[in-house]
Amino acid sequence: MALKLFNTLSRSVQEFIPLDPSGKNVGLYCCGPTVYDFAHIGNWRTFVFGDLVRRTLEFKGHAVTHVMNITDVEDKIIKRVRETKTSLREFTGKYEAAFLEDLDRLNCRKPTVMPRATEHIKEIISLIEKLIQRGVAYQAADGSVYFSIEKYRGCGCAYGRLLKLNFDELRAGERVKSDEYAKESAADFALWKARVPEDGDIFWPGPWGEGRPGWHIECSAMSLKVLGDSFDLHLGGEDLIFPHHEDEIAQSEGATGKPFVKYWLHGAFLLVEGKKMSKSLGNFFTLRDLLAKGFTGREIRYLLLTAHYRETFNFTLEGLQGAHTALARIDECVGKLREIIGTPASGTAQSDSQPAVPEAGAPTDLLARFAAALDDDLNISAAWAAVFEWVRETNKRIAENSLNASDAASALAAWEKVDSVLGIGTKSGTEIPAEILALAEARTAAKKAKDFKRADAIRDELKAKGWAIEDTPKGPKLKKI
Ligand SMILES: [Zn+2]
Repeated sequence: MALKLFNTLSRSVQEFIPLDPSGKNVGLYCCGPTVYDFAHIGNWRTFVFGDLVRRTLEFKGHAVTHVMNITDVEDKIIKRVRETKTSLREFTGKYEAAFLEDLDRLNCRKPTVMPRATEHIKEIISLIEKLIQRGVAYQAADGSVYFSIEKYRGCGCAYGRLLKLNFDELRAGERVKSDEYAKESAADFALWKARVPEDGDIFWPGPWGEGRPGWHIECSAMSLKVLGDSFDLHLGGEDLIFPHHEDEIAQSEGATGKPFVKYWLHGAFLLVEGKKMSKSLGNFFTLRDLLAKGFTGREIRYLLLTAHYRETFNFTLEGLQGAHTALARIDECVGKLREIIGTPASGTAQSDSQPAVPEAGAPTDLLARFAAALDDDLNISAAWAAVFEWVRETNKRIAENSLNASDAASALAAWEKVDSVLGIGTKSGTEIPAEILALAEARTAAKKAKDFKRADAIRDELKAKGWAIEDTPKGPKLKKI
């Protein structure tokens, strides 16, 4: 089955084919946080979406190099450093640590590489030098360096790949120095910003004099360094399409002459309580605000994962209550499966009876339906529908007493595979993995068949995997060594 994704570059749903000829390795770059404040729930929607893409690729057997940069120098940061009278590193270090904590609370897998912009000034400078050599960047009178859209287009390159721009409105040579600007003010943008008094002591020596990098060039320099000139996937919130991602393409392709990214993925906007988030409306939430209200990272992750990534999503506190109920249903079902596996099969001596053809709700069906839903441009609603139908069906089979320990073990293993993508886990973090439970079950079966050699071999295998098994009057008990 092939994964299909909506590529902003082609404005269509396309089959995902990695650049790696073996089809195994995938390079994924997600624009990371600008560490000037705690990330809000809108930011987290994008990061959880990035985590879903990564986990889906891993579920499908790819080896993913997941890069997420830390933007630790740009306009907003410098302003805040000035206001708070701290040092750059002290200021950004605090928010970077908070970001990593929050990432963990939402059970996002830690990116493979998290490069900091301030640690890549050398790479940034050499990338700018390359753009000057290629004639698509120039130094202005104040020592700043700009990317020339006119020269870039003159070389036959397209600017405006991810969205349509009206070039009649663009006036050649006009410049924009700030990191963020609107489509209407598309103009030559700053790659290197000459030092000004407001920058304080935040500057680096460069071939054009003291200064600091522009925001856009940071991502190009770090992604090219870690993932190479061309890589598979680049992801971010839809608000980054212009100018940030458009500029990243121009800078990268302008320097290397090679296609930069094969698939561009963008997550849609998040509304909170039906409105655009704003501090004055009282609907602006950081992750920490929501945790302080008593919600868990797990509930928040679940809710963020209920909407398709290309749909505007209305995040509500009522939705979080619903998340609590939905998760409780999954927990109850998974808990019952664990109970069945952990209970000696006294009433169901024929636990080795042949399983019937998989019916709706059977583990194989869950996995197939779940995988097919993901393949369809990450159709998360269909994926959750498969999960909840499986919960219903499994509960029914448990109630009918028609699920033996080995059925339960394979159901649990299927759920764990599904959860390797959803990442919601179970309520307690100290649960016994399905693989271990299945081994324990196999040992019980071996003992029952008086195959003590095999039972002992399984005990050793469990030990090698870090688990001790102890026979008690209530049946075998597993303990982490
Ligand atoms: Zn970026």
